[in-house]
Amino acid sequence: MKSKEDIIAHLGDEYDRYLGAIVPPIFQNSLFTRKTVNHGYTYTRVANPTTEIAEMKIAALEGGEAARCFSSGMAAITAALAHYLEKDSHVICPRAVYTPTKGFLETYMKKFGCEVTLVSGDSVEEFEQAIRPNTKVIYLESPLSNIFTLQDLEAISALANSRGIATIIDNTWATPLYQNPLEYGIDLVVHSASKYLGGHSDILGGVVVGSKETLEAITHNERSMFGAVMDPHQSWLLIRSLRTLPVRMKQHQENGLKVASFLEQHPLVSAVCHPGLTSHPQYELGRKQMTGYSGLLSFVPKGDKQQIMKMMKSLRYFEEGPSWGGFESLINSPGLWVNEETSVLAGIPVGLLRISVGLESADSIIDDLDRALNEMTR
Ligand SMILES: *Cc1c(COP(=O)(O)O)cnc(C)c1O
Repeated sequence: MKSKEDIIAHLGDEYDRYLGAIVPPIFQNSLFTRKTVNHGYTYTRVANPTTEIAEMKIAALEGGEAARCFSSGMAAITAALAHYLEKDSHVICPRAVYTPTKGFLETYMKKFGCEVTLVSGDSVEEFEQAIRPNTKVIYLESPLSNIFTLQDLEAISALANSRGIATIIDNTWATPLYQNPLEYGIDLVVHSASKYLGGHSDILGGVVVGSKETLEAITHNERSMFGAVMDPHQSWLLIRSLRTLPVRMKQHQENGLKVASFLEQHPLVSAVCHPGLTSHPQYELGRKQMTGYSGLLSFVPKGDKQQIMKMMKSLRYFEEGPSWGGFESLINSPGLWVNEETSVLAGIPVGLLRISVGLESADSIIDDLDRALNEMTR
């Protein structure tokens, strides 16, 4: 199919197979019998026709040979990592990576002797210096989902490939519409489908995309053995959600850029993190490796922690919570739980607020932020 819009709308349509149903059915069954005819399916933990439609679409959007859906983003991430890691392996990843991912690598995998080196992620030299003989994976998340700095996908994957190190990237922020890391030689792309892919704050899911060979091994091993597969009803909701991904992302992008530009010129804001602002130090790198931006960004208001907390609580258009990528605007406060010291370790500035700009009108969102910021110091 020619375009991503066409893939989303029609790849996987098989009207003959499903009695002409315009929307494919939910195969809500665990078992497939083969007493009379064997259609190649056995058990939903291994493969399910509804889930395969979502997998086919996401693989094509990422330009990958194959994709597999999981019960959550974390199930996808841990399966991808476990595929490459052995006893006593070493991993390099950005310091501000998604917290549960860091927890899995730093704390959980410790019992298998695994070690992690945390880097800022801003330069390829840092990754090169961190490489050890037992480095098995360079794990990326670009842009990082709280400070929105980028890693150079082409340079880092070239380095990793030349040293026989596998590369995995969490591509949840940009979605398969705006960044396709496999094109730059990255081995596996992981997504939390609970964010923009789902888009309605009603599903939990994850996806791994890569070569057919690697995905077959992951299906056979990590997915079947850990058993964290996507439920067919979630897969059906994911297909439903994907159909509006291009229009939703267009609006998230537009609203996000408007809000970021507004915050940037506000006298009571000291910093705004959004890779689409020309003032972002990696703006050019972003233009090179992404074709668009989503609506998740962060900023630091000029105030002490109490004032920032008060400002956050006084917002009317923003619900408070850690998730993002839904239709609704959300605010979260990673920078209110760090002090000067832990801020450096976590790679998160003190006072940082993260907002997921929803599908409400940009003007209403901006008015709300303006009022709350102006009331902050009163
Ligand atoms: C939410 C999130 C995940 C984990 O996804 P779940 O579906 O909640 O398990 C992974 N990476 C990033 C960047 C996220 O924001």
